[in-house]
Formats: sequence, structure tokens, C-alpha cells
Amino acid sequence: MSDAGRGILTVVSGFAGSGKGTVMKKLIEGHDNYALSVSATSRKPRPGEEEGISYFFKTREEFEEMIRQDALLEYAEYVENYYGTPKDFVFSKMDEGKDVVLEIELQGAMQIKKKYPDTLLIFLTPPSADELYKRLKGRGTETDEVIAKRMKRASEEALCIKDYDYLIINDNIDDCTRRVHEAIQTAHHTVRHEAELIERIKTELKEIGGNK
Ligand code: 5GP
Repeated sequence: MSDAGRGILTVVSGFAGSGKGTVMKKLIEGHDNYALSVSATSRKPRPGEEEGISYFFKTREEFEEMIRQDALLEYAEYVENYYGTPKDFVFSKMDEGKDVVLEIELQGAMQIKKKYPDTLLIFLTPPSADELYKRLKGRGTETDEVIAKRMKRASEEALCIKDYDYLIINDNIDDCTRRVHEAIQTAHHTVRHEAELIERIKTELKEIGGNK
């Protein structure tokens, strides 16, 4: 573990089209204390996506082998494809003191929160459903059928936002990125993440008390 202590694990979720990807990119580019986990998926690459940067692209069979090997921190099926978080990267970066960010959907977020209750959960949303639809359409990379499925999925996901710690509206990328950064940095000072400091203060108090 570094002098900075163990990093914070943060899950960022949001409706498809909420701009999560862009916010994550800005967050990583703007600060050097973050490490963004790269997921594995059985989805086919979109134009411009790169192996090992956007995702580790797998066949369904390869993905199922990773599940059997217990190589994933969590995984879920989302609109007919598997998505999952490789374990090793997350733990090694947190031990180095990095704040690790996972950009994952809701089922995965709930699995992580159950296993690691100290995880910070942030949900991003566009300002309105209409804006969400426009962003998905404007992306031009998905068929109308897939867009319809993603909109349906968004209305199911809306029911679970209450289980997150923060809801942040993405109406401006810079403001949204700043709010995400502030939420993560504030989490460093919550009592549950300050266990080491608390122990040190307790020891020091005992020592001073014993010398008086
Ligand atoms: P997309 O196909 O648009 O890249 O991603 C679809 C959804 O899968 C998004 O909501 C994204 O956050 C989520 N996702 C990406 N990686 C993971 C992962 O490792 N685990 C889980 N549970 N969801 C993921």
C-alpha cells in the first residue's frame, strides 16, 4: 500500500447516452490519481473502439471461461451481451493508492456494493428522457431496435437510482466531471475510509494520556 493509503473504489453508472464515457475520459485526463478499469465484453467493437483500451473484446465462450476461472469482480448481461470487470487490475491499482473507477451498469454495481460496501456509487443522467433519446439517435452507431431496447432498459434502471450515493446531471461535461471528482475526493474523508487515521489518533491519545 502507498503512503496515500488504499484508493477508493467508485462505480459510475448511467443511462446509455448519459455521456459517462466522455466524463470518465475527462476525469482520467484531468487528474493522475485515477485508474479506469477496462471491462471485458462479448459485444462486437464499434467503429473506433480499440482492444484493451475501450474493452477486452471476447467471444461468449471466452467470456464464460473467465466466469469459470473466477477472474471477474462482477459481471452482467446487458442487452444480450456479457460485460464484466477483470479482478486483478482493480485490486492492484487500489493497493497502489489509486482511486479506481468502474463504468458499469446497474446489476454489476449492485453486486459490487454487496461484496464491497465501502464502494461509492454515482449515477449520471442527461437532463431529460428526450435528451437521452436524441443523444442515442445522434450517436448513429446503433439500430433503431437496439436504441429501443436501451430506452426500455433505461426506464427499468430508473427504478434503482435510489440505491446509489450520488445522482449527477450531465448537462455540461466540465461541470459534471468536476462534480464526480469532488464526490470521490470527499469520500476519502468519510469515517469508513479513514480507518488508519482513526487508529493512529487512538494510539496517540493513549500515549499522551499515559504520559500525563
Ligand atoms: P456499451 O455497450 O454501451 O459500451 O455498454 C453497455 C452498458 O454496459 C453500459 O451501461 C456500461 O456501463 C456497461 N458496462 C461496461 N462494462 C461493464 C462491466 O464490466 N460490468 C458491467 N456490469 N457493466 C458494464
